[in-house]
Parts: sequence; C-alpha cells; structure tokens
Amino acid sequence: MGRKKVAIVGGGITGLSVAFYLQSEIKKNHLPIDVVLIEAKPRLGGKIETIKRDGFIIERGPDSFLERKKSATQLAKDVGLGDYLVNNDVGQSFVLVGDKLHPIPKGAVMGVPTNIASFATSGLFSLTGKLRASFDLFLPKKKVDGDQSLGGFFGRRLGSEVVENLIEPLLSGIYAGDIYNLSLLAIFPHFYEIEQKHRSLILGMAKQAQKSKQKQQQEQHKGIFQTVSTGLQSIVEAIERQLDHTVVKKGIKVSEIKKEDDLYHLELSDGTVDKADAIVITAQHDAIPSMFPNEQQTLAYFKKMPSTSVATVAMAYPEEAVQLPADGTGFVVSRNSGYTITACTWTNKKWPHTAPKGKTLLRAYVGKAGDEAVVDQPDDVIIQTVLDDLNRLMPVKGEPIFSIVTRLKEAMPQYIVGHLDNIRNIKSIMGQKYPGIYLTGASFEGLGIPDCIDQGKKAVKDVLQFLHL
Ligand code: FAD
Repeated sequence: MGRKKVAIVGGGITGLSVAFYLQSEIKKNHLPIDVVLIEAKPRLGGKIETIKRDGFIIERGPDSFLERKKSATQLAKDVGLGDYLVNNDVGQSFVLVGDKLHPIPKGAVMGVPTNIASFATSGLFSLTGKLRASFDLFLPKKKVDGDQSLGGFFGRRLGSEVVENLIEPLLSGIYAGDIYNLSLLAIFPHFYEIEQKHRSLILGMAKQAQKSKQKQQQEQHKGIFQTVSTGLQSIVEAIERQLDHTVVKKGIKVSEIKKEDDLYHLELSDGTVDKADAIVITAQHDAIPSMFPNEQQTLAYFKKMPSTSVATVAMAYPEEAVQLPADGTGFVVSRNSGYTITACTWTNKKWPHTAPKGKTLLRAYVGKAGDEAVVDQPDDVIIQTVLDDLNRLMPVKGEPIFSIVTRLKEAMPQYIVGHLDNIRNIKSIMGQKYPGIYLTGASFEGLGIPDCIDQGKKAVKDVLQFLHL
C-alpha cells in the first residue's frame, strides 16, 4: 500500500491532540502515513497562551481544566508534564449581586442547590425566591421533544431569582453567553436526564453529589480543576517539540479545500497546495464556510452560530495593595448588577504558583453576549473600567506593577438551541460529500479543553478507520 497523507487544519489544543495521538499511532504501528499540521497564526496553541513575567505566570486565555474529565490530565502526562500537574486551592467563591459579594451556597452544582441548609440561609435570594426554588421538589417533570434553552429549563424548575442571581452568573462566567439562547442538550444534557429520572433537580443532584468524586475532593480540600504549574502553554510547547514525524506549517492559512479525483487539495495562503487523503478541520466554525465556497447552504448554520468576544485583564500588585476576603478565590457577577466585569479571579489564591511571594495577581473578565463593545476599547480604558468596578467592592491602592489585556475576539462559540441537530446534519452531509474530512473542536461537541482533546482523539480513530489502517 502506498503512503497516505493526513492534513490537520488548526493548531489549537484540538489540532495538537490530533497530531500528537496520530503520531503515536503511526510510530506504534509503523503506519505509512505522513502528517501536515497547518496553523494560520505564527504560533501554535490557539486560545491557549501563557506569559511569564517578573515571576508571575499569566494565562491569557484558559487557565485550567476539569480533572474529572480525565483527557487533559492524561495528555499532560503523555507529553511528560505529569509532575507539573497541580490542583487549585479550595476557597470561597462569591457572586456579586447589587454591590455585595455573596458566598456561593455550599453544595451548589452549577447553581443547582444540593445542600438545603446552606441554600436556605444564603443572603443571595429573597424568601420568595427561596420558596419558588423549593417548588422544584414538587413540580412534575416535563418531557420536551428536542432542545430547550438553559435559561428556560432552570427558570421553570427553580424560578427566575435563582437563575438571575446564581445560575446565570456562573454559566456566563464559563460561556459568556445568553442563557436564554444557549442549548440545554448541547451544554448540560445531564440536567435534563436528571429531571427525567428523578423529577426534582435538587433531589436528583443531591443524590448524585453524595457519591461524586467532586464531593470527596471538596471534603479533602483538593480543588476539582488542574493546570500545569509552568503554564498551559507548556503542553503546547511539549507537543510541538515531540511532533518529529509531522510537518508543522505556521503562519499559513488554509484558504480553500477542493476534491480532485481521489485526493483533497488544500490551497494555502502562501500560494502552495497540499494534497491529502484525509483532513481533520479543527478551526472554529466561522472559519469553515470560506474553505468550501460551494457549500454555503450546507454550512449556513456556521454563519448564524454566534461567538462572543471577551477580554481578560491580568493585574499584578504588591499583596498589601488589595484587601481580599481571607479565604476567597474570586467572584462572578450577576447581569443586573450594573458592573462591566463579568468575573474576577484572585488568581494567586486559587493558584499559588502564579505569583511570587508577597504579590497578588488578579484576573478579570469583560465582555459577554449583548455587551461586547468594551472589548474593542483601548487597553487603558479597559483597565480603568476594571479598576473602577473593583474599587466599588474593595479598595485597590496605587498602580498595578503591570497589567496585561488580552482580547479574544469572537472566541467563545455559542451552542444555541438546536445546536446538536444542526451539527449532526452538517456532519452527515459533509461526510457523504467529502468522505475522509472530519470537522471537530470547540465549535462542535464541547469547548472545555478536555472536550477538545476527546474530540481530537476520536478524530484520530475516524481517520485511521477511513484509511483502513
Ligand atoms: P482554537 O484554540 O481556536 O484553535 C483553532 C486554531 O485554528 C486557531 O489557532 C486558528 O488560528 C486556526 N485556524 C483558523 N482558521 C484557520 C485556517 N483557515 N487555516 C489554518 N488554521 C486556522 N476551557 C477550559 O477547559 N478551561 C478554561 O479555563 C477555559 N477558559 C477559557 C477562557 C477564554 C477567554 C476562552 C476564549 C476559552 C476558554 N476555554 C476554557 C475554552 C477553551 O480554551 C477552548 O475551547 C479551546 O482552547 C479551543 O481549542 P481548539 O483547538 O478547538 O480551538
């Protein structure tokens, strides 16, 4: 059999996982496959980028991953960084409602209460709000054909106050989205299953929490998130160093993909053409339609599927400049509170390795669905906006030692209601027309780092099966 060629489009964590695990298979089984990875930007990593400065470790994009989802922890070990894995320090997280930081009630899972005592005594909700949430214990389950919005689902079960003051801030902290447009089935199918199985979310979640590893970890004061103490970019760099059987092209964009006889032709921005038997496309959804000019109708969903722009603002201070609650690790912000920041992590308290002794590292987020204009402001305006917001809550004295603003434009793909059906449909049509081309990554079946790695591993299996190897 002649040699086969596989092209990977995009060098974020999804594309890098494809390249790394495909190369492992090639080496292990002596497969006759050549691989090229093509990344539009001059550097690999996509949304993952770490800056090291004056002893601080600053993540410009993602800062950690869920240990429970295993594949990111495994990847770190597979690339030789197992000794650098660290869990977050457990502390109190808050929600900002009005001008007050309220502790997130103990046992709340994505805002769903599981510890009734802690919920009942929380200052986050009015008596009426608590009473309404308790309806969940009695309300019948509702079978919904197809999808529904996260906001609609949680509002029906727990009432609007719990959604506004807890669930929405927590979810927008992760997805920067409008929960009345986001899909329950694509993001939290689990909650729908719990309703169908246990009827009450509170009782169902409480039952599950009893057994969960997460609970055990919390009891042991071990955080549920992990990162690499040298920065997430270390994973990117370790993979890049180890890709010795893969041609890596950086700063080159795939402009168009055409099928010619039995091969795919990838037209590149440097005027050259790469040929491949199979292709894994890991670029974000909005970059895909232009690669297939004849498939505008099939890919129409990618043009309407939104992505939110956010900016992260890291600010380094001497410890004495900022008075933080003793055991606090950060807060998320309720949409109606009149603040621009959407979340702030007291990073060195959650991740002690990120700042030298005696220093504080704050990281705030701005930008959310419906309020993204701030991301386009100049750095000094964004920094001042963040400082004005923080000063309403806690006095921050003097100038930061340094600040780093990172804009992640249209970087958070939004899984809107109906997402899974739309993706299934596109994959099925593209699979028939372009066998051997696989679409995968953050825009498809999960945007957390472990989800991206899992999708990358699945693509490796699909490609090898397609090539009969
Ligand atoms: P990307 O990282 O977007 O990589 C895709 C790559 O494709 C890019 O490098 C792009 O340049 C390239 N590309 C695009 N078009 C072309 C083309 N035509 N030709 C060649 N290359 C192309 N997840 C977590 O688990 N934990 C977190 O703490 C967390 N925090 C986050 C914070 C922020 C601010 C953001 C934006 C995301 C966060 N996420 C987090 C989500 C997670 O970081 C991303 O979903 C994940 O990194 C996406 O990886 P990817 O490889 O699928 O996509």
